[in-house]
Amino acid sequence: MKVTKFGGSSLASASQLKKVLDIIKDDPERRFVVVSAPGKRNAEDTKVTDALIRYYKEFTSDKDVTQTQQWIIERYRAITEELGLKESIIQEIAEDIYDLTNLPKKGNPFTYDAFLAAGENNNAKLIAAYFNQNGLESRYIHPKEAGITVTAEPSNARILPSSYDKIEELKDSSEVIVVPGFFGVTQDGDICTFSRGGSDITGSIIAAGVKADLYENFTDVNGIFAAHPGIIKNPHSIPELTYKEMRELAYAGFSVLHDEALVPAYRGKIPLVIKNTNNPNHPGTRIVLEHSNDHVTVVGIAGDSGFVSINMTKYLMNREVGFGRKVLQVLEDLNISWEHMPTGIDDLSIILRSRELTPIKEQEILKQLTQKLEVDTAEIEHDLSIIMIVGEKMKSQVGVTATAAKALSENEVNIQMISQGSSEVSIMFVVSKNQEEKAIKALYNAFFSNN
Ligand code: ASP
Repeated sequence: MKVTKFGGSSLASASQLKKVLDIIKDDPERRFVVVSAPGKRNAEDTKVTDALIRYYKEFTSDKDVTQTQQWIIERYRAITEELGLKESIIQEIAEDIYDLTNLPKKGNPFTYDAFLAAGENNNAKLIAAYFNQNGLESRYIHPKEAGITVTAEPSNARILPSSYDKIEELKDSSEVIVVPGFFGVTQDGDICTFSRGGSDITGSIIAAGVKADLYENFTDVNGIFAAHPGIIKNPHSIPELTYKEMRELAYAGFSVLHDEALVPAYRGKIPLVIKNTNNPNHPGTRIVLEHSNDHVTVVGIAGDSGFVSINMTKYLMNREVGFGRKVLQVLEDLNISWEHMPTGIDDLSIILRSRELTPIKEQEILKQLTQKLEVDTAEIEHDLSIIMIVGEKMKSQVGVTATAAKALSENEVNIQMISQGSSEVSIMFVVSKNQEEKAIKALYNAFFSNN
């Protein structure tokens, strides 16, 4: 049994919905369908969720909402008309969109979430109606009925573990169940959304709850690419990734799936596949717990900019008990989260995201390092990028770093730092931002030129 989730671009128009119907009809194991709100039809278009944000802002600042209301309703009407759905569906959707203005305007932290959730909720109703009208017996289910109970953290809900038993009860339904993604209901009955892009999380929760054999996540690309297509022309898509590898790639800038979406499926030991609605016969990328034995060593190369490094040196640093703790205490006191800490004998660097710093915080760090920790030198280096080579099989393979370093040196990329965790899922290189593209190209050619 499979849980199948479709993203906004897969549901943006009637022609996309026809593909969705074919995909579900094509495999009787697809018993649960989780849907996003209608996304963009083209690059200039607006996502329904973004239009709902506008609607909320106009509503709460006492502006005229009519135009935005109409735009949203028309978005659904265009789809229902082209699909030849009954008029009652669009009437129900329109009423729901109008009724949002009956929600408390001030002082209720969940009103915003209720506006946003309307995008997925109405889309799920529309899609269930469309399936039924085309010979696929299906049923729309509200997250409350499905048992998706979440913490009361507006726009950042977390699933409550008690939900899973209730969700499991959906298992034996004879109809295809259509669930709106992106939100759950608190114990007090308020609608509360996950963070943006959170329909992926709902799909993962349902898959874990009903103990699906597979969680299929349909998007508009042939799976996860081995490198960013903006940098590498036509990179190949990765056939198989482990959850750990996916986490590393996502960390360094790959954003196909919502970060938190991996957790329920991972804990429930449910394999996941990312597929393309516009090319459903392509196998996509499978995300599994463990690779088969003969799997390639390096699966992907990711890069991300926006890093800074706090570099310090102090003679005999290695002998000073407590030095590292004191450095980290400086950061903790300023509420700064750090990412990596490569060290030498008498030097230490802390790599962090530049968004963690402000000019005032930078000054404070340098002051504390020189005055309190009495370092010999301290500086903050900006405009750095990290490049990650990812692959669990590197652990049992000699020479990956050598291949990478050779490729980088042949292309005159200066490696500023190298770091590898003991789990050896990835090797990280720090380079200057203006060498990031060159580095990714060099590494892609070194590891994937035969593909
Ligand atoms: N519609 C929501 C968003 O745009 C959630 C999702 O599509 O996953 O963030």
